[in-house]
Amino acid sequence: MKISEILNNNKVTVSFEVFPPKEWAKLADTKKVISEMVKDKPAFMSVTYGASGTTSGYTTEIANAIRQGGVTPLSHLTCLTSTKEKINSVLDELEKKGVENVLALRGDIPKDFIMSKSQYYHHAYELVNEIKARNHFCIGGACYPEVHPESKNRVEDIAHLKEKVDCGLDFITTQMFFDNEKFYNFREMCAIKEINVPIIAGIMPITNAKQIKRSAELSNASIPKKFEKIMERFGENPDVMKQAGIIYATEQIIDLMANGVNNIHIYTMNKPDVAHQIMKGLSAIINEQG
Ligand code: FAD
Repeated sequence: MKISEILNNNKVTVSFEVFPPKEWAKLADTKKVISEMVKDKPAFMSVTYGASGTTSGYTTEIANAIRQGGVTPLSHLTCLTSTKEKINSVLDELEKKGVENVLALRGDIPKDFIMSKSQYYHHAYELVNEIKARNHFCIGGACYPEVHPESKNRVEDIAHLKEKVDCGLDFITTQMFFDNEKFYNFREMCAIKEINVPIIAGIMPITNAKQIKRSAELSNASIPKKFEKIMERFGENPDVMKQAGIIYATEQIIDLMANGVNNIHIYTMNKPDVAHQIMKGLSAIINEQG
């Protein structure tokens, strides 16, 4: 099924994310994680793509396992360091496996990488154009409520997002954020700039205190005082921190839903128990509105 069809029916949707293994031998473990996660009936499940492309086969294999588990898969695809031939072979493979949804990404710029005019791809919109030309996939893209780290300012970032969406995106998914006000401001800016595709809010449950520092650095996400206090008090106790992180993410989602945000993506990070606890916390809302 195309994700555009899932999003366009005005119902609440909650989706999950998994990452593929780094080696073939671990594929069975990741498939086990998926078989646990599908029990919570996410609206769809995305699978990330290693920026170097060397594990692309695992991404397509995992997308296929999600589909076989009865859930719609969304396969991520990055292009910066890739050739057109490589991108097209991955897209051919996805088509063959019956995967209909792709998140079209540029990928982070690797350390010491020099952007050149001669390389195939420089920005995600070029990949969007290429996927669109196939006339087969529903296409999503990334967006940044707290501005992409490379952008000079929000105005420039939103202008590039608008160009990318106009190339044919069906939806956009946000980078993680911990302060819902940042999302509401971003949503307003998108409306002003006539970015009218569904915006899926990306929520990362922080279940250990070390994880947040790295996640926040990579994503440009600011940490609200309230969450800082939680980490100060509970960060040294893994069980308590995990529970507090799950509750914080659940409360964030409830606030978003109360403010009219119907589509939530949880960065579940191959943790079925975390996904399950959050879904349990939302069960009445999902039953009523899903
Ligand atoms: P772009 O849309 O190309 O934007 C990158 C930067 O370039 C921005 O600053 C933008 O404003 C600017 N820009 C865009 N167009 C132009 C233009 N025409 N001229 C000048 N500047 C321009 N990474 C992975 O490696 N694997 C994954 O699976 C993965 N999944 C992700 C999922 C989500 C939901 C998100 C939010 C991010 C994900 N990432 C992933 C990280 C992503 O690859 C990085 O954030 C990357 O740096 C930017 O990718 P993009 O697709 O947003 O790029």
